[in-house]
Amino acid sequence: MSGKKKSVIIGVLGFQGDIEENVAATKDALQDLQVEGSIELVRYPEEAEKVDGLILPGGESTVQSTLAAIQRSLPVIKKRISEGMPVLGTCAGMIMLSRRAFDRVIGDTKQKLIGNLDVVIERNAFGRQGDSFEADLDIGMLGKEVFKGVFIRAPAVSEVGKDVEVIAKLNNKIVAIKQKNIIGTSFHPELSGDSRMHRHFVKMAVDLKNKVAA
Ligand code: GLN
Repeated sequence: MSGKKKSVIIGVLGFQGDIEENVAATKDALQDLQVEGSIELVRYPEEAEKVDGLILPGGESTVQSTLAAIQRSLPVIKKRISEGMPVLGTCAGMIMLSRRAFDRVIGDTKQKLIGNLDVVIERNAFGRQGDSFEADLDIGMLGKEVFKGVFIRAPAVSEVGKDVEVIAKLNNKIVAIKQKNIIGTSFHPELSGDSRMHRHFVKMAVDLKNKVAA
């Protein structure tokens, strides 16, 4: 590694949900890429300021965003994303990033959202907990081999803005998107035992860090 390259810091929003699973998948990604880096839990604004990339894990989006709002981290996360910090939102994390979320049963969910991602999300679009499933997905961005998507009370993307690229679909529903520095997935890449999504994300953070340092 050249002396110029700095160690990357990947944050995982640390309030609720599958935090440990994302830490483990990120560790694997760093190792697979042979990138020097550390993983830190992010709860408070000052922690959100210092990471080079942030993962918003799956779990319960209403709980996570309420806790993040209480700690006053949401505005800092929003600012960092609009400045270009790479962010990966999986399931509940993607819901938090969206500009609007609704549920077929209750309509607009009126939850606190970060809002940088120009999509509308339908929560629980594949049914409730009992309807959890796995499906093979074609995600060109990650290579030819199919990616095992783990769907748990999964949302789907029902509207996309003009800067949003659809990167995976399942039965005509949009299940993964990319908008510049933002990746969102309906499924849980941290549970598939395949580090390709986390590797892709870590690379985005490393590339940005090296560009800034150059
Ligand atoms: N349905 C959950 C929510 O709305 C997301 C489920 C998940 O992250 N596995 O927050």
